[in-house]
Amino acid sequence: MGLLDNKVVLITGASRGIGKSIAEICVQQGATVAFTYLSSEQKARDLEAELTANGGVAKGFRSDASKFEDAQALVDAVVEAFGTVDVLVNNAGITRDTLLMRMTEEQWDEVINTNLKSAFNLTKAVQKPMLKARSGSIINMSSVVGVKGNAGQSNYAASKAGLIGFTKSVAAELGSRNIRCNAIAPGFIETEMTEVLDQDVVASWRNSIPLKRGGKPEDVANATVFLASDLSAYITGQTLHVCGGMLM
Ligand code: NAP
Repeated sequence: MGLLDNKVVLITGASRGIGKSIAEICVQQGATVAFTYLSSEQKARDLEAELTANGGVAKGFRSDASKFEDAQALVDAVVEAFGTVDVLVNNAGITRDTLLMRMTEEQWDEVINTNLKSAFNLTKAVQKPMLKARSGSIINMSSVVGVKGNAGQSNYAASKAGLIGFTKSVAAELGSRNIRCNAIAPGFIETEMTEVLDQDVVASWRNSIPLKRGGKPEDVANATVFLASDLSAYITGQTLHVCGGMLM
């Protein structure tokens, strides 16, 4: 028996990194998985093949999380394919790091639309099936940077802090319908997003983390499965820090 048996999980941005790991562990735990990608078509096809290889049920959808209409069409397609959406993981995210002095309006808008507006788009769209089912779990991928701030990431930090406020408000609004909403704040997780960083900076981060290592995508995926499953049935409106003790 899996922790997510009979649940339909929709994950945005799962062609690589943390989202991919969430998709893999959700299928291992018995979920039916719908996942999205934007540009990594081949990686998405490969993941779909991997997830379904041993009898898992999964389907990849190309959908731009920053676009309101895409989100509605996506949820309609997922409901048509799998009947409902029990769990939504708003994971898609990007960085456009630079100091405020150099940041363009486009860099600000791109990050806010992909990281924050996307959660509004998708949460609006899943409300209908979740209200109908009188149950649901929504998980928003924030960041320790949204809690603490970070020089060179004012757009990213604002989007991730915004997700925490959004999470608490949705939890307050939908709690009476048995729909839970929580955020995860990963610390330094080693993925393609962090590969581009200066390696000296990366080494100093690892050293400053109490657990003395960067996180693995599976570390975040396991926390996501907990919040998706009925093991967390009495937890809503919270931000779970998955950061090796980086932020206490
Ligand atoms: P990643 O490796 O760069 O992967 C990002 C994923 O998001 C990709 O699958 C990408 O799809 C998708 N994506 C980007 N824009 C999209 C859009 N408009 N619509 C749909 N999908 C889109 O990133 P990651 O490190 O796994 O991070 C995943 C989440 O965790 C992000 O929200 C990130 O902010 C958060 N996070 C990461 C860290 C970390 O240290 N890595 C720390 C804290 C929080 P395509 O490849 O198809 O474009």
